[in-house]
Amino acid sequence: MLQVQDINVFYGDVQALHGLTLEVREGEVVALVGANGAGKTTALRTISGMLKPRDGSIMFQGKSTQRLAPHHIVALGISHVPEGRQLFPLMSVRENLLLGGHIARARGGREQMLEQEIYPLFPRLRERSEQLAGTLSGGEQQMVAIARGLMSRPKLLILDEPSLGLAPVVVQEMFRIVRRIREQGMTVMIVEQNVTQTLQLADRAYVIENGQVVMTGASQDLLHNDHVRQAYLGM
Ligand code: ATP
Repeated sequence: MLQVQDINVFYGDVQALHGLTLEVREGEVVALVGANGAGKTTALRTISGMLKPRDGSIMFQGKSTQRLAPHHIVALGISHVPEGRQLFPLMSVRENLLLGGHIARARGGREQMLEQEIYPLFPRLRERSEQLAGTLSGGEQQMVAIARGLMSRPKLLILDEPSLGLAPVVVQEMFRIVRRIREQGMTVMIVEQNVTQTLQLADRAYVIENGQVVMTGASQDLLHNDHVRQAYLGM
């Protein structure tokens, strides 16, 4: 579904990704694992078009995307749920969610999608639909961010640190939601501090260090790999 080949990405003169190569197949959950500053967020932002690689290629379902604007990439079927949620705090939950689908369909279709698909998955958001997004709890805000990402009916959902800053019980709820989304057939790319649980959820993972992939494999194998256990699982 997604093929990232040998991309180099810079912030000014500073190179953040060095020849990064990875792929995601349809129906998979793929995790990116790495220390702070390894380049995980940069990789996700480049895939969704917010950063442009200096060279290399990105193909999504056979189309080259590395020169496309982010909203065109959303229209092709990639939805990025950013680190830190990035909601519109002075708009209601419902308004935030409707915005997430504006590329995909007219308002009536989006209202219907909220009722039939989004609120059944996130019942709490129906209760809170008229509340200002900025007044929600951290966990509720993260649910809005994920639900808003789903509103464009993506084929690939990108999740950057969905459990960051949440209480342990809310983290568990977040993982349950991601499991349900994958059971519905969604392809998912995820970056998470919570490495053990993420590897238990994912099919495959890439370990990223200093802007490049240093290891990849089935998540179950990486969970038992000595380097991964020492560097990322604290064992
Ligand atoms: P974290 O888990 O801490 O978010 P990460 O693996 O997602 O880490 P990135 O945020 O992708 O890492 O950062 C990769 C490198 O790029 C780091 O050295 C970082 O300092 C640098 N970087 C990130 N954003 C910028 C920016 N806007 N301007 C300059 N350098 C940046």
